[in-house]
Amino acid sequence: MEDSIFTKIIKREIPAEIIYEDDDTLAFLDIAPVSPGHTLVIPKKQVENIFDTDDATLAAVMRTVRKIAPAVRDAVGADALNIHSNHGAEAGQIVFHMHLHLIPRFKGDNFFMWPHKDYKEGEASEIAEKIRAKLA
Ligand code: 5GP
Repeated sequence: MEDSIFTKIIKREIPAEIIYEDDDTLAFLDIAPVSPGHTLVIPKKQVENIFDTDDATLAAVMRTVRKIAPAVRDAVGADALNIHSNHGAEAGQIVFHMHLHLIPRFKGDNFFMWPHKDYKEGEASEIAEKIRAKLA
């Protein structure tokens, strides 16, 4: 498998502002931040996205997210954080090495997420049933 751009950061082959590292994960500043302090947390194991990530790898990533979240928020004086992740090209994933975005948010920053819709009559229960069937 060819090294992803993030694996190259892990190997220090390309530079990044690394803020945390342990045996299984790395956290570094996004090169094109939504807001100052925008951080990416990645597993060192090169998995593509949620669909090929094992439980232990995901747990390690979430432990690192939990550990660094207050430091990221407080270092930039943010009020809150969005923890966001894209899984698949159609969801906006550009780098195919699983990662979570920690995006500092500020009161009044006026950054809106995607719009919400309404379900048609019966549509929600139909979809929920299809998902339950996939899980069975
Ligand atoms: P995605 O859309 O895949 O969820 O987000 C990929 C993120 O990686 C983007 O926010 C982008 O700015 C960031 N990124 C892409 N290449 C690099 C890089 O070489 N270094 C760093 N630090 N961030 C990168």
